Amino acid sequence: MTKKKAIILDRDGTLIEDKNYAYKIEDFELLDGVIEGLKLLQNDFLFLIVTNQSGIGRGYYTKQDFQNFNNHLIHILKKQKIEILKTYFCPHLKEDNCECRKPKTKFISEIINEFNIDISRSWMIGDHPSDIQFGINAGCRTIFLTTGHGDKHLEELHSLGIKPTLICDNFLVTAKIILKKMVI
Ligand SMILES: [Mg+2]
Ligand SMILES: [Zn+2]
Repeated sequence: MTKKKAIILDRDGTLIEDKNYAYKIEDFELLDGVIEGLKLLQNDFLFLIVTNQSGIGRGYYTKQDFQNFNNHLIHILKKQKIEILKTYFCPHLKEDNCECRKPKTKFISEIINEFNIDISRSWMIGDHPSDIQFGINAGCRTIFLTTGHGDKHLEELHSLGIKPTLICDNFLVTAKIILKKMVI
């Protein structure tokens, strides 16, 4: 069976506005170009979300709140005929030193095994340096989006010496670049 390619997506600040520990549906807001971009990519890639949700560990919201909010996103995308295969979330705080918080790659091993993914031909898209480090640790190509908190973190990305494959300011443009890179 041939291996499949995936786009691993951060959620907050990448697909939806990052409103700091959002979990209420009324705070849900898709980012520009996300629907169009995912539609362009869906013939060639499987979609998975990997998200750090320390708001759960901090007690700001429960796992169930997180699931309800996330299901809303999955449902909105499904109505557009876009399928997210699975959402992996880390509920821990950084201090917990768990194995699942990005940039640690526990979820990458799970994704590779569960969906038979060729990780070297896959991409990680996110708006935080830890997303890019996660993608690099995993052996993916990476895109740093300056949507969400990305703008704020750009300097941090540079000072940490973390080098994404690309830096981009819009999800649709990102999708077009990924498709172009596949041809080259
Ligand atoms: Mg983010
Ligand atoms: Zn964790």
